[in-house]
Amino acid sequence: MTLSTKLSEAFNAQVNAEMWSANLYLSMAVYFKKQALNGFATWMEKQAAEELDHAHKMIDYAIERGGDVMIGQVNVVPTAWGSPVEVFEHVYKHEQYVSELIDNMLNIAEEDKDHASRAFLFDFVREQVEEEATAKGILDDLKNYGDHHYGIIDHKLGKRE
Ligand code: MG
Repeated sequence: MTLSTKLSEAFNAQVNAEMWSANLYLSMAVYFKKQALNGFATWMEKQAAEELDHAHKMIDYAIERGGDVMIGQVNVVPTAWGSPVEVFEHVYKHEQYVSELIDNMLNIAEEDKDHASRAFLFDFVREQVEEEATAKGILDDLKNYGDHHYGIIDHKLGKRE
């Protein structure tokens, strides 16, 4: 069984969305570097690398399944935020949006009765639960200790593996 045209197109769109996410987080890393919040920047760089890894996994899977993979143009990402809290509000919202995209792909895989794609996408469904929880956790920390205590959070985020 090869990917349906609809699912193949959804994979292409998702690869593009993952690449856009990688650029978004890289842009956030630059924002933090400019303020010498290097722990935040390290966290964002690792997040960006993870998003690119998602794109690569989807490309490899779609090709294995005979999908028509195409790398398209990636739209520009924002470059400025008002505060670290605003950055993580954006991260949290963005990850919720990505969860919706993944859920929509799974809906297509279910319509197609494409069980291999369902199994593949379940990893991403679980990943999104983590992504949302992590973003929410950092946002809560920033709201609880933020403003004058960025240093503590910066130190903690800099330790991300
Ligand atoms: Mg991702």
